[in-house]
Amino acid sequence: MGILDIVPAGVVSGKDVYKVFDYAREHSFAIPAFNVTSSSTANAAMEAARDAKSPVILQVSNGGAAYFAGKGLSNDNQAASVAGSIAAAHFVRSVAKDYGVPVILHSDHCAKKLLPWFDGMLAADEDYFQKTGEPLFSSHMLDLSEESKEENISICVEYLKRMAKIGCWLEMEIGITGGEEDGVNNEHVHNSALYTQPEDIWDIYRAFSEITPNFSIAAAFGNVHGVYKPGNVTLQPGLLKEHQDFVREKLKTDKAKPVFLVFHGGSGSEKHEIYTAVENGVVKMNVDTDTQFAYLEGIRDFILNKKGYLMTQVGNPEGEDKPNKKFYDPRVWVREGEKTMSKRCKIAFDDLKSSGTL
Ligand SMILES: [Zn+2]
Repeated sequence: MGILDIVPAGVVSGKDVYKVFDYAREHSFAIPAFNVTSSSTANAAMEAARDAKSPVILQVSNGGAAYFAGKGLSNDNQAASVAGSIAAAHFVRSVAKDYGVPVILHSDHCAKKLLPWFDGMLAADEDYFQKTGEPLFSSHMLDLSEESKEENISICVEYLKRMAKIGCWLEMEIGITGGEEDGVNNEHVHNSALYTQPEDIWDIYRAFSEITPNFSIAAAFGNVHGVYKPGNVTLQPGLLKEHQDFVREKLKTDKAKPVFLVFHGGSGSEKHEIYTAVENGVVKMNVDTDTQFAYLEGIRDFILNKKGYLMTQVGNPEGEDKPNKKFYDPRVWVREGEKTMSKRCKIAFDDLKSSGTL
């Protein structure tokens, strides 16, 4: 039995999202979440999922969503980020089934100052729910980790009540992911904030589970966005087991891993660290930095290797009257980036052991 025996191909929502994560938790694998900024990068990720026979998570960041709508648009009041998220979601919904894999459609970090973006997406989810019985997105992330724990939990709870009504999953963050991503710089945050405590996880679990079981927690365990030389913060995925044990004790349950955990800032991690995190209940791992670089590689190498065919529309090393259209057509050189990105995605599916789980 595989995942396609329990949920259909295409964008999944509501109980099906729970089923996918529960299956992953039970079988000790995690699903990679790739940041997508265009139909091209979304297709590269879905193509890789199809070939790896794995479910996949596609996510838009606030900046990535604005890019999806077009950098020429104003993002005043988050207008472009809202429009781009909705456009990306509709695009993915229209093609996901054709790739034959379950797709979880998600939005990435949303800090307090970006809540108008969240509000715009949630309004679109409710509108879509009115028409189809399911939300536009499968899931969203709220990242109020810069606020106090109390405020973080209470804002999440308010949104979670609305999301539970339409079957939308919530990912929240507690503790801080170091490094820099999408304009948020946590490079100088104090070390202690980079490790979440088990009591924090329990406080969140208790508040959220009264509303719905459909939530996950991005806990900090020394993870850092981006790729850096080894520094003074060490990844401690073993800490995640303490969270699970603490919540299990409180619940008096025999479920080994009661909490769904999410791994941010995992680019550049060692394979054994990744897998320790997965064994301790990580069901989603974000992959962005490495796929960004991979997307460039194919395009970069094509441009460097075919330079003689790319400087003029006519005339190349084979003759001065030879046309170059089949080299400068974007379907040729952008495709090279899709291929190298897909290849990197494939590595993520293998690392997280989600390959072959359909
Ligand atoms: Zn992140």
